[in-house]
Amino acid sequence: MTTTDPPAVSSPVTLTEAWRLKTMHGSDAVYTAGGTILQLQREKGEDIPFHIVSLSAIPNLDKVDYLVRNGERELSIGAMTKLQECASHPLIQAKWPVLSEAASRIASPAVRNQAVIGGNVGYGIGDLVPALLVLGAKVVWFHGGKEMVEPLRSFIRSPKPKNMILVSFRLPDEERICFYRKVGRREGFIPSVVTVAGGIEIDSDQNVKKVRIAVGGGGYQPRRLERTELFLRDHAIRRDRWEDVAKIIEEEYHPAPTPFASEEYCRQVVVNIVAFEMERLRNELWTGGI
Ligand SMILES: Cc1cc2nc3c(=O)[nH]c(=O)nc-3n(C[C@H](O)[C@H](O)[C@H](O)COP(=O)(O)OP(=O)(O)OC[C@H]3O[C@@H](n4cnc5c(N)ncnc54)[C@H](O)[C@@H]3O)c2cc1C
Repeated sequence: MTTTDPPAVSSPVTLTEAWRLKTMHGSDAVYTAGGTILQLQREKGEDIPFHIVSLSAIPNLDKVDYLVRNGERELSIGAMTKLQECASHPLIQAKWPVLSEAASRIASPAVRNQAVIGGNVGYGIGDLVPALLVLGAKVVWFHGGKEMVEPLRSFIRSPKPKNMILVSFRLPDEERICFYRKVGRREGFIPSVVTVAGGIEIDSDQNVKKVRIAVGGGGYQPRRLERTELFLRDHAIRRDRWEDVAKIIEEEYHPAPTPFASEEYCRQVVVNIVAFEMERLRNELWTGGI
């Protein structure tokens, strides 16, 4: 093969066949969903693997289902569900608005009509990941004939086999109010510098009962800010605690600086958003706005 040869594209119709093809060709093969990352790589003149294994012909990977599993209600979103569907699906908008908001802020309508949720997570630094982390998402993934289920939080931390296939994402139906903010160099159609998502539940004494905060953006691999969460838990949301929150965020969040944003800038943005949004959510809960 020469670098000018066109890639060989396979369109298997089962997970097993897709997995077998990728296993057979190893690093010479790549899975593709919406294909927008390959598009970016091609535009940059980067080499792309010779074998492209498209997942688009596998049935039922684009289903959105609201169901009861082990007595708990949850939403199951197939990995091949388009970003546009995540942004505009009435049930997602009504019950998981933070996911619609995150999806609607990615790229342009043309990209959102092509790219899918599994591709955004498979990308590793996708803007949906902080929202999914805050929603307590689980990942269903396929490897060697078996489907595994794992919290997204641990899934992204531990290395996975290169030939595993993302199948779906499960979102618990929780009584939690959330926010999502994407900060870029302009309002729309721009890569993120910082993305922050958060969600809280507050008890009758107005203390934080449950909290999740996740950050991503730029080239930073999204993650939860677990020490910050611990500090906020079991306390009221009060203005005089933000200085301490800023110190904890400084210790646990280390974004890589870019030509457009220093590490210090990204951190200050995260602190400001967390403080502003937590106070806003608390006020909305107390005044019964939500
Ligand atoms: C103009 C433009 C603007 C963009 N703006 C943004 C933005 O604002 N925010 C953002 O997050 N991203 C952005 N992107 C990057 C990218 O388009 C998105 O992250 C998109 O969601 C990727 O989805 P896809 O379906 O195209 O994935 P693909 O390109 O098909 O795949 C992405 C990666 O995931 C792997 N993969 C895909 N599906 C699976 C699966 N089921 N199992 C295992 N691995 C899988 C692929 O092998 C590949 O490594 C942009 C891209 C372009 C071209």
